[in-house]
Amino acid sequence: MQRVPLVLGNWKMNGSVQANESLLQGLLGSLGPEADTAIKHDSLQAGVAVPAPYLFQVATRLRMSGLLWGGQDCSNEVAGAFTGEVSADMLKEFDCQFSLVGHSERRQRAAETNELVGLKLGQLLNKGLTPVVCVGESLSEREKGSAQDFVVGQVRAATKGLNDQQLAALVIAYEPIWAIGTGKSASSADAQAMHATIREELSQQSKSAAQAIRIIYGGSVKAATAADLFAQPDIDGALVGGASLDASEFSSIIQSACPAAQSPH
Ligand code: PEP
Repeated sequence: MQRVPLVLGNWKMNGSVQANESLLQGLLGSLGPEADTAIKHDSLQAGVAVPAPYLFQVATRLRMSGLLWGGQDCSNEVAGAFTGEVSADMLKEFDCQFSLVGHSERRQRAAETNELVGLKLGQLLNKGLTPVVCVGESLSEREKGSAQDFVVGQVRAATKGLNDQQLAALVIAYEPIWAIGTGKSASSADAQAMHATIREELSQQSKSAAQAIRIIYGGSVKAATAADLFAQPDIDGALVGGASLDASEFSSIIQSACPAAQSPH
């Protein structure tokens, strides 16, 4: 099945009104005609996950561009006394198309459990937003040889109780924790092996949803490594942290995901 490649930048807690403006201007100015056309024709999707205070600015700037924008997290609650949280309704009001949930930095810093991540993605699905569900093992799980079981457990917990349609609406981001922000990407063969395992796990729930779902890779993706990753049959794009803060680097990564730049899967 031909899945539309997806490249998302994760700005994390970076940016300022001025820095965002020049980053987005640089990005839009450097995409080039091929990626620009692919984005306009929906044969390529690309976007940025931004800190909530900048959603209005980014929505205004990107509205006519074809690029997507979204949140970095979403509350598991609908509304009320939850200081500091951002609801799916709020993301929707700023025309976000997606939000990250379960990023390892939130799982570690805010002790988010698989169960909480499942509730968060449920809120997004209820509002028609695409949950980008982040999963990935630590270095010690990889060294113990339990990386696949660990990641399958996260995927299973996050997707529990979803129907086929809901399942197909998800994006899974496989991000080995040891590769995030370290400059040490998983090899394309190791990443492909984990993506194939995740797709196999999803196919136990629904064969058609497993074929439709995008599984993107995150962890020190750079322009130099992107094409090799995207050439793998089960790697449908990337979630890019540090490199998404550099307009020309991020633009090159997006260009590498252009269907015209790919050999057919
Ligand atoms: C991320 O934070 O999702 C990420 C993959 O970061 P980096 O690309 O910097 O490793």
